[in-house]
Amino acid sequence: MFRKLLLLPWFLAIFSFSQDTAHFDGKTWWDFVKVLAADNMEGRETGSASLRRAESYVVSQLQEAGLQPAGSDGFYQPVKFHSLQIVEKDSSLSLIRDGKTEPLTLGEDAYLSTRVDLAPEVQAPLVFVGWGLSIPELKYDDLAGLDLSGKVAVVISGSPSSLPGSLAAHYQSSAERWKALRKGGAVGILGIPNPASMDIPWSRIALNRAHVSMSLADPKFNDTDGEKLAVTFNPAHAAQLFTGSGHSFEEITALAKERKPLPRFPLAVSIKATASVEKKDVLSANVVAKLPGSDPELKNEYVVLSAHIDHVGIGEPVNGDRIYNGAMDNASGSAVLLDVAASLKKSGQKLKRSLLFVFVTGEEKGLLGSRYFTAYPTVDPKSMVADINIDMFLPIVPLKRLTVLGLAESDLGDAARQVADAHGVVVQADPQPERNIFIRSDQYNFIRHGIPALAMGVAPEPGNAAQSKIFKDWLTQRYHAPSDDLDQPVDLQAAALYEEIIRSLMISVADGAQRPQWKPDSFFRRYADHPGQY
Ligand SMILES: [Zn+2]
Repeated sequence: MFRKLLLLPWFLAIFSFSQDTAHFDGKTWWDFVKVLAADNMEGRETGSASLRRAESYVVSQLQEAGLQPAGSDGFYQPVKFHSLQIVEKDSSLSLIRDGKTEPLTLGEDAYLSTRVDLAPEVQAPLVFVGWGLSIPELKYDDLAGLDLSGKVAVVISGSPSSLPGSLAAHYQSSAERWKALRKGGAVGILGIPNPASMDIPWSRIALNRAHVSMSLADPKFNDTDGEKLAVTFNPAHAAQLFTGSGHSFEEITALAKERKPLPRFPLAVSIKATASVEKKDVLSANVVAKLPGSDPELKNEYVVLSAHIDHVGIGEPVNGDRIYNGAMDNASGSAVLLDVAASLKKSGQKLKRSLLFVFVTGEEKGLLGSRYFTAYPTVDPKSMVADINIDMFLPIVPLKRLTVLGLAESDLGDAARQVADAHGVVVQADPQPERNIFIRSDQYNFIRHGIPALAMGVAPEPGNAAQSKIFKDWLTQRYHAPSDDLDQPVDLQAAALYEEIIRSLMISVADGAQRPQWKPDSFFRRYADHPGQY
């Protein structure tokens, strides 16, 4: 069901009339979404036949738009995975207190995460490490002075407000976090979602644990080597971890809510885990297409437009629905790529640089398809000048304001600001850095290979409580739920304007005299300056 469209605001009407920028009407975009998020696409799980079907549809549309194959096998770049599924009936978790065992209920109290290679059995004391962050360049270290040897580190997600958002996000990635904890001798991580910044309620987090995890088959990508245990703990049941430690979980959450510094101390309990995991080989693919540029020199450079096409497949039913359609996450972004490609064919506009359209797999498994693509790009890695990533941009309110992730990191952010400005849209940096969304989508892998990147999403107007509620409710109810489907209200005009901004930004980069540059003070510049070192 659509939300009824509003009339075009006057300034847009004048703008589109005088500048003739109306390449989109929202309807062609929604038509693509309707195909990719249909029930018969079964939620596009990585490695599934239905994802392959969605990808072959994408390839047919790219061909129609006159794009050329740019994968390693035609339009495809095959990617090998291992899938990991916990067998809960043969697995268990308990706390050991004063020699006595207190069994935990899987799903209610906590669950075992297969994002690491779980050891069959682990028993270890627990240490609360607060935010669990170790940031050498800021001389910030939550692990300082703690004995972690042979222990499981208990962390709460998020970061103190004293740390810059992008930097804190980077050091919360599982790779960076584990690097520091491993150095300290820890054997595992028990994570407690911060109740103040949980996107989805525990009941649905617990349901989602039934989805299989995946890792890239190539062992070079294993960055949690030595992590024997990964547990996610229900914050509503976490008080029992703190009993007898001299601190209460209430005290911790009150500080965490304010993003204040947290105390760090050993807990009075140990954790005991038994894990049985089923492993399988899985084959999936990225889809890569190019539109060659017209400038004899610059056509050897690419502006990348990326979006993940996978979602989480079929899972536990919610209100009787088992298909996790992923209409916004991320049929919506894949549809923008297809729609932009079609619009370029229609307008016949020639761009100086080449464009690369990359539809990645395995995003929902931990940004794995983009990780593979950026490690083994199908074009010269130095030829990729920028990545504009589109993931769940949420056109669910009229578009007046865009959140730009990576806004201050490179001059790509300035270009985005200019383009948005010209369309009457205000840009803002991430207003909720504690949600870590900067590292939660595929732009992050491009950044880690030195390529300036950003991602943008529709944002509520500040002070507009009704709009804020629409976003909050969307995350609580639809994010990674079967109701992220075709029966949700969308604002087609917001989608059309978003596409217009993406298209203009892409063209401005493709025709720009200089390739985008990292800002001198950007933390992420290090990946461009010292490739392969971080
Ligand atoms: Zn997702």
